Formats: sequence, structure tokens, C-alpha cells
Amino acid sequence: MAVYKADAIVIRSREYGEADRLITLFSREYGKLEAIAKGVRKPKSTQRGGTQLFTYAEFLLYRGKTLDTVNQAQPRESFIHLWNDFDRTIAASGIAELLDISTTREQPEPELFTLTLSFLFLLKHLDPYLAQVSYALRLIDLQGYLPTMDECLGCGKDLTGEQAFLSSEAGGFLCSLCKNNRLVKALNPGSLALMSQLYKGELAKLDRLRWNKKMREEILGSLCFFCEEKFERKLQAWRQGSELWGK
Ligand SMILES: [Zn+2]
Repeated sequence: MAVYKADAIVIRSREYGEADRLITLFSREYGKLEAIAKGVRKPKSTQRGGTQLFTYAEFLLYRGKTLDTVNQAQPRESFIHLWNDFDRTIAASGIAELLDISTTREQPEPELFTLTLSFLFLLKHLDPYLAQVSYALRLIDLQGYLPTMDECLGCGKDLTGEQAFLSSEAGGFLCSLCKNNRLVKALNPGSLALMSQLYKGELAKLDRLRWNKKMREEILGSLCFFCEEKFERKLQAWRQGSELWGK
């Protein structure tokens, strides 16, 4: 398998050497991959478009000893809308970043691939941060966390109408009695109810959901905390977004 095909989204891109880029791909077939895109920082490079961040393309990759190389990148969708609006760029970066830190290389996760692609399309019209939250909840679910949002993981108490506490150590929501001395983030009943809708709601109906500034800060803040603790990495784009949530 010296040369292989991959249907993939560019989820990270950084400068490498004189004119190259080291890109992280999330592919339908193999999960996360890393490859060098040679010469793409030169203005005349034909592969420039296909290797841009967020681009969905059909890649032809060459298997190297240490690093794979991009032979060809045929763009299928470049998601221009993600670059025309700052909030959409930040939300898409948050999605890509969470996908990157929560997955290991070369582990096929086709469901997660489809989910990611769907949300990059949804970012065309959805409130970008609502989309980011809904994506994050569904990703966490696919990874096996957040088994339930309606009841306390400790004692099984129904959390409807109650203040709930998100704990990464417990892997989900706790009631006020079960949280004990754990590090938690508190969520008011309205925020918890909205999270539940963002988690389970049909994708086509997500644009009906609304939130206010307080709910947005609470939900994004608690999810950022949960994921950073769970995956033991900082979420830079999420933190950058949080500076904007207050506005
Ligand atoms: Zn409890």
C-alpha cells in the first residue's frame, strides 16, 4: 500500500520547512492521519486549495517511512462560508480541535467522520456556537461519555428542573448532593434542558433552538472544562471563542 486513497477533511494545518505544510486529516477510511503537503505555500501550487484547513477532499497519499506525503488533493467542498465570518471560523476551529484531541491516529471512526462533515455543512446557517456545542455533545456520546443527561450518575435522581453539575471525573452529570468535593461546573435548569435538546434533537430542527448570553457562557464553559479534563489537553479555539461569548 505505497499509495492509498482517503476521503478526508483537513482538521489541522501548520507550516513545515520552507514551503510545506504538515496537515492532519480525518478520513472516512482510516480515521486520523498526518501527511506532508509539499510546496503548498508557494503561490502557484496546484494542491493549495485541497489542503486548506476545513477542506473536504479526495486525497491520494504516499506512505512514507516516518511521514506520509500528499500526492494529490481533489477538493470536494471547501466550506468557503467558514472563512467569511469570524464566529464561524472560531466554531469550526473548535470542532476540528476537539476532534483532533479526542481521537488517536489510524483508528477508523466512520460515524464520527459523517458527524463532522454534517456539522461543517450546518455551520452555513446555524448559530455557530450552538452548532459547536451540539457537535461536541454528539462526539462525547460516540466516545462513550455522558451516558445520561436526565438523571444524576451518582444516585439516579431526576435532574429535570434542578441545578446539575458536570464532572469529568464522574463522566457526566451529578446532583447537588453527589457532587461532593469533585471539581465540577454548575448548570442551571434552562441550560441543562437546552443541552439535552442539542444532544438528542434532529439535526434539521436545531435552527429552532435559542439561548441567551448566560446560557451560552454556562454551556460552552462547562463543556470546555469537561473536554479539557477528559482528554487532558487545552482547547485553544474554545478559549479564544470564550472571549467572544461575552460580547
Ligand atoms: Zn445524586
